Amino acid sequence: MIDLNDLANPHLRGIAVYEPGKPIEDVAREHGLDPDSIIKLASNENPLGPSPKAIEAMRRAVEKAQLYPDGNCYHLRHALARHLGVDFHEIIIGNGSNEIIEFLGHAFLGPDDEVITARHAFAIYPIMTMLLGAKTIEVPDPGFVHDLPAMARAVTPKTKLFFIANPNNPTGTAVTEQTLFDVVASLPPRVIVVIDEAYYEFMPEPPRTLELVRRHPNVILMRTFSKIQGLAGLRIGYGIAQESLISILHKTRQPFNVNSIAQAGALAALADENHQRKTREVTWEGLQFLAEEFKKMGLEFVPSQANFIMVKVGEDGAGYRVFRELMKRGIIIRDPVALEKAGQCRTLIFDKTGTLTYGKPE
Ligand SMILES: *Cc1c(COP(=O)(O)O)cnc(C)c1O
Repeated sequence: MIDLNDLANPHLRGIAVYEPGKPIEDVAREHGLDPDSIIKLASNENPLGPSPKAIEAMRRAVEKAQLYPDGNCYHLRHALARHLGVDFHEIIIGNGSNEIIEFLGHAFLGPDDEVITARHAFAIYPIMTMLLGAKTIEVPDPGFVHDLPAMARAVTPKTKLFFIANPNNPTGTAVTEQTLFDVVASLPPRVIVVIDEAYYEFMPEPPRTLELVRRHPNVILMRTFSKIQGLAGLRIGYGIAQESLISILHKTRQPFNVNSIAQAGALAALADENHQRKTREVTWEGLQFLAEEFKKMGLEFVPSQANFIMVKVGEDGAGYRVFRELMKRGIIIRDPVALEKAGQCRTLIFDKTGTLTYGKPE
């Protein structure tokens, strides 16, 4: 018998399929619960749902679904350019900002190349890196905060991409604007710096990262309509960089990568400032509530600048037990420890002494 794995791209062997937050329908089925009673906290979705204006725009767009979408995303890119004060050519739209990560991989990574991330950074970076046969260098992040100077020291002649998730998922932490500016300026211009700002709009004091794009042709920002706009189901996000970088990424995308309904919904959502403000308010209120309750319960947690919070509920599988018990009650959370142990990605780990070790995360 032929083992199809032998035919598949050898880079795929080490890859475990990304484990998303458990869908509401699955939990309802497995626990005999009413889907409408379930509270899903596991994927950082917007509790208010999409903007009513976006819903209306999407309804209208559905009527024209026989037509291919505008592959150039003309209206949305112009609206974003106006909104951000950048040029139309400095924006690329992706099928989720996750697709922008993939564009970067296709554009810059090959076997033997290296990608730098923080130890507890967003799980998609190492998966995409492996997919392209490149290596992830994970740099320890004391206190769950990206150690940007240590990450900069991990740069080698093979480094192609340098990921900064700010705020990071799943930790909710962010680096200071000053550190960000200093470290980005110190990196060699041949290293592409990817600042993932999926939660930018939730930050009490967001860093002026558009200024970094203006100064450095090797910097790209990634933002998304999935979180602040509540449009995760549409799959739409964007990258902001100087035209020289954006024009390379356009070559790597499918001609119609963003569907017409997503473009219409995003365009309308962008204009609905009121919905974004309400989302921020309800999020900050929720974060404050959780932080206060965790304190009363004596639980350690990591203060969050995003729309979720990481809390330590105990040792040795306590997270998994809490996850199971909450699920029975119709509340879906993530157990990051279990996810990490299930742990997919073979990575290179760059420790404090500057040594590289190859292996699974501990
Ligand atoms: C949610 C999230 C994204 C957004 O992904 P989309 O593909 O735009 O839905 C990107 N980066 C991080 C760190 C995230 O948590």
